[in-house]
Amino acid sequence: MLNFTVGPVMTSDSVREIGAEQVPYFRTPEFSKIMFENEELIKKFAKAEQNARVCFLTGSGTSSMEAAVINIFTNQDKVLVVDGGSFGHRFVEMLEIYDIPYTVIKPEFGHGVTQEQLSQYDGCGYTGFLINLDEASIGVLYDIKLISDFCKKNDIFLVVDSISSFLCDPFSMAELDVQVMIVGSQKALACPPGVSLLVLSEKAVKKVYDNNPKTMYLDLKLALKNGERGQTPFTPAVGILLQINQRAKEIDAAGGVDMEIARIRSLAGYFRKQMKENNLPFHIISESLSNAVTPLTPTNGKSAYDYFTLLKDQYGIWICPNGGELRDKVFRVGHIGALEESDFDCLVDAFIDVEKKQLL
Ligand SMILES: *Cc1c(COP(=O)(O)O)cnc(C)c1O
Repeated sequence: MLNFTVGPVMTSDSVREIGAEQVPYFRTPEFSKIMFENEELIKKFAKAEQNARVCFLTGSGTSSMEAAVINIFTNQDKVLVVDGGSFGHRFVEMLEIYDIPYTVIKPEFGHGVTQEQLSQYDGCGYTGFLINLDEASIGVLYDIKLISDFCKKNDIFLVVDSISSFLCDPFSMAELDVQVMIVGSQKALACPPGVSLLVLSEKAVKKVYDNNPKTMYLDLKLALKNGERGQTPFTPAVGILLQINQRAKEIDAAGGVDMEIARIRSLAGYFRKQMKENNLPFHIISESLSNAVTPLTPTNGKSAYDYFTLLKDQYGIWICPNGGELRDKVFRVGHIGALEESDFDCLVDAFIDVEKKQLL
């Protein structure tokens, strides 16, 4: 299997070996030590301030998105939310469920948020901003500097879903004044799905302690309190946390987050160049690409979804299909996980083979 989806992705052998071992009991000093290491390494990669804290949740990325919304905001807030694709829309649905007042910013398809779009909300009393830094459903990376400047100017609490941009695109939580950053285990962390985490600034930690959301499992006060001793309130996905530890230490040893970003950027560039040189019949739909993924639409009238099925069934290669309205229009090629240039050669060869044999 060769997997170019955007998660779960290919996992390195060293991380997979941990998955084959017995899962240890976790209320121990040994496991607490692992969790403290995880917290420090994630903070380092996020370029967070020293007093920042990390909450590890057992649940996919969406659980941490929901935890952020209900632990940070209340119905006294007024939130701006960017609805640029299915992940942005998920935030909108959460604000709706929890009766938090909000206004939607809708970018033009394939484009980021513009200065003009933001300026109209200057001085309008907004208190929160929710954004998915890489709207991975259509591969659009937003201009975080622009958004950060707007939030700083208006004293707005900035919450960023970095699930598919963490380790892929440059980011500094402290410099950008981001208060909450959300990450998932199955994207560029390249571990199995099941754990997500929130990095909270000192201001965000305070806000969490001041809020009383109606939830038990997602109450971050419990996570923060238990985290002080390197523990979680409930049984976590212990095995995945051990795998995250292995992976984080490997990234650190290989030069840290900047090296990992450079590695993924280089793979993305390599694939995009090969695609062009071989005249593959696809067009990139995003005007603002992330390093994590290349979103493509076939230019030969064929269905994007048929490419996904054909490559999966006949080549053992997985690209990432889209759903809903974009099912036949868009597929995505991910650049995250344990992949190398030679893997992208295989993918490009498969696309060439499909054309040559006219399999579609
Ligand atoms: C993958 C992803 C998510 C999380 O989805 P889950 O299926 O809940 O893990 C959220 N936001 C973005 C931008 C993502 O890429």
